[in-house]
Amino acid sequence: MNLRLASELQTDSIVDGPGLRAVIWTQGCSHNCKGCHNPQTHSFTDGFEYSVEELCNDISKLKYHAGITFSGGDPMFQPEACALVATYAKSLGLNVWCYTGFTYEELLKLSEKNKIYLKFLENIDILVDGRFVLEKRNLDLLFRGSENQRLIDVKETMKTGEVTLLNEYEYNEEKTFEKDKLYI
Ligand code: SF4
Repeated sequence: MNLRLASELQTDSIVDGPGLRAVIWTQGCSHNCKGCHNPQTHSFTDGFEYSVEELCNDISKLKYHAGITFSGGDPMFQPEACALVATYAKSLGLNVWCYTGFTYEELLKLSEKNKIYLKFLENIDILVDGRFVLEKRNLDLLFRGSENQRLIDVKETMKTGEVTLLNEYEYNEEKTFEKDKLYI
């Protein structure tokens, strides 16, 4: 199975989640948020195809990384391939963050018709959800661009059935998360 990517695996990010991270820049997004920083990732035919196997092989070589982050584009337009990659990353003990323009509730709705969304969600630790809304842009926000977007603790949310947000107060001045669970 192939993924459509906007660029090769970025292995030096410190802004797309806690700690040193590898970012998977997926290609393709139809949300068309005004002020999007990555308009070059919107086309569903640009970028290049890359196999899940090759990407997992790249991920297996990561050292010193806290986790991987799916970004784009919107990874939720390629849920099957992303679910495979996320499952593999979790098997290596990496934590998994995912940015998406869909809300969590919209993804649950989609999962009623296609269970693959659930499979992907089950292997995500933190979901940064919702479209970027220029009028709600706030540069002080942690790991997100606009105030409508949420940092969702997916495991807790799926367990309780209530959307549970990551507590930003756990993010201290040393720019590390204090709770081990965020690295699970
Ligand atoms: S969801 Fe993300 S990539 Fe897609 S248009 Fe909005 S900001 Fe851009």
